[in-house]
Amino acid sequence: MLTLLEIARLLRRAKVTQGPAEVSPELRGWAYDRQPVKPPAYLGLALSDFAYGYCPTGRSLYLKYVLGERPQPTKPLAEGQALHAVLFKALEDFRRYVYSGTPMSPPGEGMPEDLRAKAEALYRYIAVRLTGEYQHVLASRLARSRDAAAFYAAPIAAQIAVDGAPLGLSYVVADGVALGAVVEFKFGPSQNVDVALAGYAMAIEAEYGVPIDYGIHVQISIDGQVEYRATAYHLGDAPRAKFLEARDEAIDVVASARDPGPAPQCPKTCPYYSVCRS
Ligand code: SF4
Repeated sequence: MLTLLEIARLLRRAKVTQGPAEVSPELRGWAYDRQPVKPPAYLGLALSDFAYGYCPTGRSLYLKYVLGERPQPTKPLAEGQALHAVLFKALEDFRRYVYSGTPMSPPGEGMPEDLRAKAEALYRYIAVRLTGEYQHVLASRLARSRDAAAFYAAPIAAQIAVDGAPLGLSYVVADGVALGAVVEFKFGPSQNVDVALAGYAMAIEAEYGVPIDYGIHVQISIDGQVEYRATAYHLGDAPRAKFLEARDEAIDVVASARDPGPAPQCPKTCPYYSVCRS
């Protein structure tokens, strides 16, 4: 799943088609001590609660942070979480296979019955893909050590958590980081991914002080077989400014404690659907 060569090709394509990676200094995450990156208030909001723009009016923020409503886990949400866990387990198991020879084996206990087939298909796909690439780079002498071969096959450092406080957020956990790009995996509908990726990038910049100029969105579908489409985005000024605008609006909703009201149309997959629409 996204080998080194694939990621390098994606980033090269983005550089060629989207132009040079220029970012205004005031929009880097490490400029957190001044406007516009400095937040209007430090409320510790979760990045995923606003960056993807799932709730058009921002009422989900009011319900969660002002009224303390708990989101109701919907099927797509639960499925996405379970498949993310399978993906991360496969990446971790791959490293165990490389360094200790432990065979990779799909998750067993604990996986809901209706997800078992999808979970196994995903795990087996990743296992075959990574172990195949690993053997290939070793055999071709492209990699001169196990460590290098593991890096060629699976260069993504998974579940990178950083302190989002400088941006007014709670802890921010990116699905992955590779070759200076931040990576997000999606199993269901997704929107505004470039804006969310800019938020992850800025949080990492604030924590480590290194530039993250690109984001990679990997959309995965599992319908009998696994298919994925990966897209790289240059995280320039536009997605960064949109992210900060969404963050400031989110902070405003929570700080003012005003109910923005329900959206004209709401997806039934919203975890607050029963609250807003009952
Ligand atoms: S049901 Fe609609 S208004 Fe309510 S939180 Fe969800 S998207 Fe927002």
